[in-house]
Amino acid sequence: MPSSTHNSLLGLTLQELTNLVLESNQPAYRAQQLFDALYRQRTEDLDQISTLPREYRTRLGEQGWGVGMPKITQKFESRDGTVRYLVEMVDGETVETVWMPEGDDGESGDGSEAGDEIESGTAAATWRRATICVSSQVGCAVNCRFCLTALLGVKRNLEAGEIVGQVAAVLREQGVEPPTQRVNLVFMGMGEPFLNYENFMKAVRLLVEGVGIPESRMTVSTAGIVPRIHDFGRESVRPKLAISLNGSNDELRSAVMPLNRKWNLRDLMKAAREFPLRTRERLTFEYVLLAGVNDAPDQAREVAELVRGVRAKINLIALNPGPELPYRTPEQERVFEFQRILVASGIPAFIRRPRGRDIFAACGQLKRTVEVGPAEQGEPRG
Ligand code: SAH
Repeated sequence: MPSSTHNSLLGLTLQELTNLVLESNQPAYRAQQLFDALYRQRTEDLDQISTLPREYRTRLGEQGWGVGMPKITQKFESRDGTVRYLVEMVDGETVETVWMPEGDDGESGDGSEAGDEIESGTAAATWRRATICVSSQVGCAVNCRFCLTALLGVKRNLEAGEIVGQVAAVLREQGVEPPTQRVNLVFMGMGEPFLNYENFMKAVRLLVEGVGIPESRMTVSTAGIVPRIHDFGRESVRPKLAISLNGSNDELRSAVMPLNRKWNLRDLMKAAREFPLRTRERLTFEYVLLAGVNDAPDQAREVAELVRGVRAKINLIALNPGPELPYRTPEQERVFEFQRILVASGIPAFIRRPRGRDIFAACGQLKRTVEVGPAEQGEPRG
């Protein structure tokens, strides 16, 4: 285990907290008090956990424990309301977490959200909904050719507490309290969640049990780590699954996602077909459209063929460009045509609207903060 967060309480389960308090001969109910303070109240400082006796707080501090809440060190606000946060971990490493009010990137119209009915009456009138895009690793080891995070390489995995901590820090900053206020999570920030599987799954459970965000409002996206897709299907508590497809045949997919040489479309689609979906649940395939590479009508038909028989929808994303990327964004009409072909083949297809492009917060663009100074970043670009 990396030493960076060895003394962070954030990330410990109720059972782990119980062991901790019992070691200090404290009553077991102190664990629940800690758990609530960490996840429900999202307290930043041990000293503020007033339910614990002062002596015990001091004792924990002396033992080297702290909350371990990540710090928001920079933020960039887009004209569309999207806010991109640079979040710093205890060891100084940073990742990005994106707040998207009203936002599920264009998925709102598809009516598949299981949680929709829960809204009636209560706080929904004043609060609509927001989506937080969460990172799972510092950098990424998967070498997708169209993604800016890939250019960073992978620095390290995030601990469970650092994944939960991004959500906690952003909720604090925004003054938002789930479940009263509706928050969706997408694990689509920096990194490949399924290459940090155990920490990611532990974070999910803490977000459900501690923070109170239902699993039905969470989606994880994988580049296609096939063995982990099988594992994920066996989890009793799990988000919805999205798979980044991005190519309509092996040759094409291997060119844009070299990991396809390890887990090809046959393996990937087999895993997708076997994936145990819950009632009313659908898989999502994400498809980044690259002009002149994978956006032709024939390729749309190939995608339709691939996906046939899977209870799935397809989210189309026109490439969010970056200066270092060897691809261009297709024309709008091309994107619409691709969508029309899929829909005509009976496959629900949606176009994801880019969020926060002016602040480089859009999918695959998250690396920019690290490289470009804040002044330059904060300026809307025309
Ligand atoms: N590693 C995971 C999650 C992070 S990427 C995965 O690969 O799915 C989240 C989504 O953003 C993926 O669907 C990915 O294909 C897409 N993406 C990456 N770079 C992009 C870019 N430059 N433009 C548009 N979408 C991009």
